[in-house]
Amino acid sequence: MKLVTFRDSGTDRVGVVLGDEIADLSAVKPELVDMVDLIARGDGGLAAAGDRIERAPKLPSTDVELRAPFIPRKNVMAVGRNYREHIHEIKDEPRPVPENPIIFTKPPTSVIGPGEAIDTANDPSGTTDYEGELGVVIGPGGIRIRAEDAWDHVYGYTIVNDVTARALQRKHGQWLIGKGPDTFCPMGPVVVTKDEIADVSSLWVRTSVNGEERQAAPVSDMVFDIPTLIATLSSVMTLEPGDVIATGTPAGVGMGMEPPVFLAPGDVVEVSIDGIGTLTNPVI
Ligand code: MG
Repeated sequence: MKLVTFRDSGTDRVGVVLGDEIADLSAVKPELVDMVDLIARGDGGLAAAGDRIERAPKLPSTDVELRAPFIPRKNVMAVGRNYREHIHEIKDEPRPVPENPIIFTKPPTSVIGPGEAIDTANDPSGTTDYEGELGVVIGPGGIRIRAEDAWDHVYGYTIVNDVTARALQRKHGQWLIGKGPDTFCPMGPVVVTKDEIADVSSLWVRTSVNGEERQAAPVSDMVFDIPTLIATLSSVMTLEPGDVIATGTPAGVGMGMEPPVFLAPGDVVEVSIDGIGTLTNPVI
């Protein structure tokens, strides 16, 4: 199932993509607070959605204003230096392949939806860069989840653009400030439930700027795979329904170009992953 959140008459509603239409799930499940609420209801919630979808009002996709699928309840968890070629593309900063996952976070205030603008005014350093990434959405929560059990805790997938203020990322050592500006976490356009993705490692992540492809790599290039990331994070903290893990970016960021090229107002960034869709955001 492909799940969306869309705005209608000033309120956000949960919908299901059916071809060229969006079924308004909130109309037939009025008890649903938001998509995180649906995620927390697990397989039962999806089954109930499936039962009611036929009588849900349908809207043409082109008429619908999509929002971020949901605003996470806590920071988006993200993984640094998780694709080998990306680790080696920053020429002036030699970096080893990490022995353990590098984890940082992005606050909920950084999350925006498809079509919303990445605002470079929030990066006083003028070094705004893109990072197209696969986002893993946690379903059933847990602590000390073993890698072999990790897939049981995956609800589905989305696309995340881990927009980064490069100079601030370096200046402050810890990455929160460089990764956390408002609007620097575009997410969406959909959450695809995991049953629709036969082999997530075979998906390709592609990013283009103004139509020019900059990043293209398969998820299988990740240094630390999804079960390892879930096991690492949950070794010390409880993962909860609706938590998001941005799994790292392939080579091809603007910082890696010679000379580096950063995002500027007027640019349009598109991140595509097969089976999920395309996340498009203008830059202002
Ligand atoms: Mg990243």
